[in-house]
Amino acid sequence: PPALYIVPTPIGNLGDMSPRAVEILQSVSLIACEDTRHSGRLFSHFGISTRTTSVHDHNERARAQWIIEKLSQGDAVALVSDAGTPLISDPGYHLVSQVREAGFAVIPLPGPCAAITALSASGLPSDRFSFEGFLPAKDKGRNDKLTALREDPRTLIFYESPHRILQTLEAIVAVLGGERPMVMARELTKTFETFLSGTAAEVLEKVKSDDNQQKGEMVLMCHGFVAEETEEAIPAKAMETLALLATELP
Ligand code: SAM
Repeated sequence: PPALYIVPTPIGNLGDMSPRAVEILQSVSLIACEDTRHSGRLFSHFGISTRTTSVHDHNERARAQWIIEKLSQGDAVALVSDAGTPLISDPGYHLVSQVREAGFAVIPLPGPCAAITALSASGLPSDRFSFEGFLPAKDKGRNDKLTALREDPRTLIFYESPHRILQTLEAIVAVLGGERPMVMARELTKTFETFLSGTAAEVLEKVKSDDNQQKGEMVLMCHGFVAEETEEAIPAKAMETLALLATELP
């Protein structure tokens, strides 16, 4: 039956390709790829010879209409990005929303995602988190974004690229503060997988002083905002007692 399958692919280690992902990619009529040449290498490794087409930020809306025509003809189609889960800081949002709008099924496969992989081993609170993708490239945009997140109590997750890593860590120190606990996960699932943790100032220092820490792929995670307990603040237990007393007083 016609459906659009959302298929995650490895973020480094080919062993993370799921058997179901291979099966779906072999059986659909067409695979929409972020970059057909990039995915072609993965597909040849897994014996996938399905026809491919490109879907990237610049042609996604137009290409969606063509894919909807394919679905109307009864074809099943898959979407992959260069690595990890499509739509997560990758193309696919317009395609999925248009395909759903047209009334066709969208079937997601679970699989690799750098943000979730990084968070799961970071040691930072994982009960609530906010995935923020890439911070804006320009200083003002980046600072404004961080300022808006400064008092967010949730763990913050950012994607970053090697050529902006120092600027971004500097901005985190400047806006969230040098004392903010954070973790940088680098080269997940690959040979040089590394977790650096400490205060933001410490992580910046480690990355600054070691060129190797500025290479590869990285996820930055910051502890959420914790309100400082001031001396004047009345402890919660005392407030409870006061409230109870107030109900007893004439
Ligand atoms: N769709 C992907 C996902 O599900 O994670 C993310 C694509 S985004 C264009 C690429 C960014 O993801 C990188 O700049 C980096 O921040 C992060 N990333 C991808 N692979 C990674 C890895 N193996 N280790 C650390 N971060 C990674």
